[in-house]
Amino acid sequence: MTEIDPDSPVLVTGGSGYVAGWIVRYLLEAGRAVRATVRDPQKAAGLGHLHALAAAHPGRLSLHRADLLDEGSFTEAMAGCELVIHTASPFLVGKLDNPHDQLIRPALEGTRNVLASVDATPSVKRVVLTSSVAAVYGDNADMAGKAAFTDADWNTTSSATHQEYSHSKTLAEREAWKICAAQDRWDLITVNPGLVLGPSMTTSSVSGSMTTMGHFVDGSLTLGAPALSFAVVDVRDVALTHLSAGFTPDARGRYIAASGALSLLDIGKVLGNAFGRRRSFPRRELPTSVVRLVAPAIGLTRFYVDRNVGWPIRFDNSRSRIELGIDFRPPQETITDHFEQMITDGIAKR
Ligand code: NAP
Repeated sequence: MTEIDPDSPVLVTGGSGYVAGWIVRYLLEAGRAVRATVRDPQKAAGLGHLHALAAAHPGRLSLHRADLLDEGSFTEAMAGCELVIHTASPFLVGKLDNPHDQLIRPALEGTRNVLASVDATPSVKRVVLTSSVAAVYGDNADMAGKAAFTDADWNTTSSATHQEYSHSKTLAEREAWKICAAQDRWDLITVNPGLVLGPSMTTSSVSGSMTTMGHFVDGSLTLGAPALSFAVVDVRDVALTHLSAGFTPDARGRYIAASGALSLLDIGKVLGNAFGRRRSFPRRELPTSVVRLVAPAIGLTRFYVDRNVGWPIRFDNSRSRIELGIDFRPPQETITDHFEQMITDGIAKR
């Protein structure tokens, strides 16, 4: 049982991010004081929504400089906090020049550095780590023989050269559990979201969520979509899952945050129903043989295609619903609200 003093400030790492924006907002709306770490608190773009939240909640939100690769940089902002919510980690999709430096190093070293600061900060009682379903499974084909992925599953199929982002999240989460097990002052809870969609409070995020939704306006799915399915979850529900994980005294372990599994075609259909038929919304699935053929040209390996395209996927979110009281929004609402926000932000046309 871990009781967090409601008057102690909450530290949120990666405060400028897509997911973190909603966590910070809901913490403030719940009356908490929040310290958000960002790499550059002075930067001109990407922090406007946090400045607006600070103005709306005077004296309760402060920004602090910290970098995942800079040992000890989180310690000062953490002083006096009982709850640390560690979201900072790059979520980049597509072909990367240097996955080790761009993903794996910041995820793993960042987790070590944040948790070293936790170990050095006597006030901290609980850490909520934003992990991912990417630490639960690697490829959709890992579903073979299972009814659904649960929080007991671990990704054993990703590596430094295959599904690098998933590998980075798996290494980081495993490291966090190892560091936690070496002491008994603070406990660790992980939130393992599926693909997070829903309205973004910032247009500056380079999250893979934005890249994915960008494909529904850039024409890349006009001829059809690969038969690829993901667990989808609303960003607002992911934020609520973090808050509930932080403040539910007997929360424990890993919590899968996912409302349902959808394919790219399913997302296209939701968008077509809500916004009318458009060329950029896929209306059919591409034959897997075609996807296989063009895979190298679109930055995918044939190994990836074989292990992911055409495989259905399912997740068990019951612990989040029952223990944390999360009532996941239907994906249709999430996707529609996400696209509405893209229209408001000028990324998509009405
Ligand atoms: P995001 O908008 O790109 O946020 C990532 C955050 O990480 C940014 O605030 C960024 O800060 C910070 N960051 C990156 N490198 C850093 C470094 N070296 N030092 C300090 N901060 C650094 O992405 P997101 O989608 O919100 O992702 C947030 C978390 O959710 C990540 O842990 C991600 O793995 C996890 N997650 C996301 C999804 C999803 O579908 N979006 C699904 C499951 C899990 P700067 O502003 O300084 O760049």
